[in-house]
Amino acid sequence: MSGERGRIAVVTGAARGIGRAIADRLASAGATVVVADLDVASAEEAAKQLGGGAIGVGVDVADLESVQATVSRVCGEFGRIDVLVNNAGWDKAERFVESDPADWERIVRINLFGVLNTCKTVLPVMIEQGGGAVVNIASDAGRVGSSGEAVYSAAKGGIIAFTKTIARETARHQVTANAVCPGPTDTALFASIGGPGLRESLAKAIPLRRIGTPEDVAGAVAFLTSGEAGYITGQTLSVSGGLTMS
Ligand code: NAD
Repeated sequence: MSGERGRIAVVTGAARGIGRAIADRLASAGATVVVADLDVASAEEAAKQLGGGAIGVGVDVADLESVQATVSRVCGEFGRIDVLVNNAGWDKAERFVESDPADWERIVRINLFGVLNTCKTVLPVMIEQGGGAVVNIASDAGRVGSSGEAVYSAAKGGIIAFTKTIARETARHQVTANAVCPGPTDTALFASIGGPGLRESLAKAIPLRRIGTPEDVAGAVAFLTSGEAGYITGQTLSVSGGLTMS
């Protein structure tokens, strides 16, 4: 991978929330960030605020053709992709026995197929250029389960296993792949899932006594995509204030 300044970093779901904080951190480290999101207007606005040559692009990670079009635009414009952060995700909280199979489809398509689609398209670019760093945003739900998030947990657990395998398959090309598992983190997604009082009860249960911020997750991603983490691959890192350990 090239030095940290001047890297080209694609961050999905970067128009807001955790993805936005990751985009900020990578831009501050000197990367040119591609803010890739379903919400094009917010992606373009975020890119304008980031500066450093950042661009906002519309993509639906659940759709392979949309991902291919975006990656070909990025390669046409910048000629390489050094960092891929698969952050786009979605969930709808409800007990599994009451859930609608149409929602399973949407949850798996966005969360799991989204990562497969981008990796299928970007890994050949990284292999060809002889290096790169992939960070997949999974969830502690995929490690320890989470009531009301059964299918999401399955998709996130799938991301963790997938990340380990692509780490093995691409290591010889100097491509690293790691999974970051946020615990409860203060974003619009958390607000849509948590009922009243959840924030307070979680803050009491979390050893560090607060729910996470998008910046907490961004710090871990910045490290794992930096040269400092060049010898770390296939790992799963929780950013959860100690809520989950091991
Ligand atoms: P968020 O809803 O605030 O932001 C998600 C972003 O992804 C939005 O900008 C949205 O437009 C975009 N997006 C959604 N579907 C997309 C698609 N198909 N294609 C492209 N972009 C799409 O969510 P967040 O809380 O910032 O979550 C970011 C990631 O962190 C997700 O993968 C989520 O599962 C994971 N996560 C979040 C928490 C939490 O508590 N917030 C906990 C664990 C894991």
